[in-house]
Amino acid sequence: MSTVHVGSYHATLAVVARFTDQTPVNLLVLRSDEATYLVDAGAGPVAHWGPCAGEPEAVLGGEQPSAIILTHWDWDHSGGLVTGTWGEALAPRFADAPVYVLEEALAFWRERTDGEEATNCGTAVLAVLEEAGLLRPVADQTSVARGIRLESIPGHSPGQAMVVLGDGEVVFGADLVHEAVHVTRPQDDHEYDHDPALGLATRRRVLPRLARDGALVAFTHVDGWGRVVAHGDALSWQAEVLDGG
Ligand SMILES: [Zn+2]
Repeated sequence: MSTVHVGSYHATLAVVARFTDQTPVNLLVLRSDEATYLVDAGAGPVAHWGPCAGEPEAVLGGEQPSAIILTHWDWDHSGGLVTGTWGEALAPRFADAPVYVLEEALAFWRERTDGEEATNCGTAVLAVLEEAGLLRPVADQTSVARGIRLESIPGHSPGQAMVVLGDGEVVFGADLVHEAVHVTRPQDDHEYDHDPALGLATRRRVLPRLARDGALVAFTHVDGWGRVVAHGDALSWQAEVLDGG
């Protein structure tokens, strides 16, 4: 785990699981004096899709989140929002925590007809949250709490958002890229994109901005914090070694 401070928040990046190739699944926990926000939830009971069990309690240290922020509905991000056995009864994992998510593309997930498939975790999880009255859809650029804003980064997965903290000095970029090398070669990160052309356009728009802003950045599937650094027209990922835990 490694923690940075932004505004009134301690932002802790923690690995909840790793894929067999050791790619991490990072979650972010945002703690202030008033609240604890969990950003994404790992795979939870969708682990049978692959050896990637991820129970978000492991990174919460016994705390109950005040609210959850979901970057997108892919299985390795949303599965941990529920408990139970996949294909049978599922229930909200955090029964008192509202779930903030971008409203765009919710219709896409509601209307999918392959909701029984673990490859489509989003439709079933969305249904559980809506049934429980926990879903809080918000528009692009909405602040879900002071200093925590959701910004649309479309293309990879319908409705994907990144989480912008403070004035943009700290950013959780979710699956904007899947490997550090994709910061330099965004055209290589199409394998998991729902809309590869849109995903590439988003990467080409957002990554240079992160460099200009000098933001401290984390992605779900890249280890640790880092920065997007510009060298002329080229970009690269520069891992950031932080003091303390
Ligand atoms: Zn992912």
